[in-house]
Amino acid sequence: MSRYDVLIVGGGHAGAQAAIALRQNKFAGSIAIVGDEPELPYERPPLSKDYLAGDKPFERLLIRPPAFWEERGVTMLPGRRVAAVDPAGCTVDADRTIGYGTLIWAAGGSPRSLVCSGHQLAGVHAIRTRADVDRLVAELPATSRVVVIGGGYIGLEAAAVLTKFGNRVAVVEAQDRVLARVAGEPLSRFYEAEHRVHGVDLRLGAMVDCIEERDGRVAGVRLADGEILPCEMAIVGIGIMPAVDPLLAAGAAGGNGVAVDAACRTSLPDIFAIGDCALHANAFADGAEIRLESVQNANDMANAVARTLTGAPTDYHAVPWFWSNQYDLRLQTVGLSLGHDRTILRGDPATRSFSLIYLRQGRVIALDCVNMTRDYVQGRALVTGNATPDPARLADTAVPLKELAA
Ligand code: FAD
Repeated sequence: MSRYDVLIVGGGHAGAQAAIALRQNKFAGSIAIVGDEPELPYERPPLSKDYLAGDKPFERLLIRPPAFWEERGVTMLPGRRVAAVDPAGCTVDADRTIGYGTLIWAAGGSPRSLVCSGHQLAGVHAIRTRADVDRLVAELPATSRVVVIGGGYIGLEAAAVLTKFGNRVAVVEAQDRVLARVAGEPLSRFYEAEHRVHGVDLRLGAMVDCIEERDGRVAGVRLADGEILPCEMAIVGIGIMPAVDPLLAAGAAGGNGVAVDAACRTSLPDIFAIGDCALHANAFADGAEIRLESVQNANDMANAVARTLTGAPTDYHAVPWFWSNQYDLRLQTVGLSLGHDRTILRGDPATRSFSLIYLRQGRVIALDCVNMTRDYVQGRALVTGNATPDPARLADTAVPLKELAA
């Protein structure tokens, strides 16, 4: 049986960064990454952006070049799924038994699928892995109409790319606005208008009844009111299910993710969990237990665990940030808008360059900045400093945000 001092499950952003940071912190023990995808660790955000658009080849998505892992003595075990964890024996079952000193669970999540007939038809896609996107792109030459189910970031980014390709795209969203889970209404309305200008047929407050079939392929999406949106391709972007079953089966606390403490330790001995699958109390969400699905969270959790494992016990405490590219719009967000009680618009959305600032009890908790990098950079200090600036000055674009951070 092979055994590693640190065994990392999942070769995504969090798993890769954990190995990188361990070596940066001079960890001298053995490290392996076991992951069920065949590729070396790669960046996921371009999958719905430049990789889908064909603007970036896969090689440029790799988090590190292949030689890096060898030079750092990180053993790669790709194409293997961990099916079970034995915390008492300190082993995992991944086709063969692998032993560990410390286990870092960084398995992310898998796309939620629709619970309706037709969800498994050919032509129905998710966007989570390189393989997903390669399959989707291979079908594009025979596609002119696409229905995107879910008006979150991934669905909207895909809609923007496919519209640019000349497809007719409809987006079906169950809520009465896009991005409802993550953004304030003014931002939702701005993006809805942008997508409509680009010809996207937005269906808000619309429920999917089933996927229609012709010759074993998707032929359309039937809505609850009976209307059928004909298409050759459907893309389902309705969130993820955290990949934590083996850990929960082994007795770890959790539910919607695996529960971790401030240092990303699970309730099982010598097992940490990081990234999309880690359910943690986040200071920027007023201590609420959440999972964050972002590269920032994956990397910062990995860095904290690496420091703890190299003798400098470190809690995870990092300001959340995120980005999204749609058309020529670059959205950058900092903080978490969860639980805001007021929004302030800074700048005019008609200029396609503005910020939406979120307050809770007068305190700045988050900013969404569209084509407004200066606000994003300067606004960070407002969030980290719990600033309570005069709302009128926050709204005044003539006042730089850095003046309000003091
Ligand atoms: P993942 O990157 O998902 O890696 C987990 C890995 O573990 C996967 O390879 C998975 O196959 C593997 N795995 C799962 N179960 C097992 C098992 N039992 N055994 C072995 N291996 C297993 N974030 C941003 O900040 N900005 C963006 O613009 C952005 N855009 C995105 C666009 C898309 C299309 C997607 C899918 C995500 C995007 N995200 C974005 C989110 C970001 O990519 C994730 O938050 C990040 O990848 C999380 O890293 P992770 O390591 O926790 O999980």
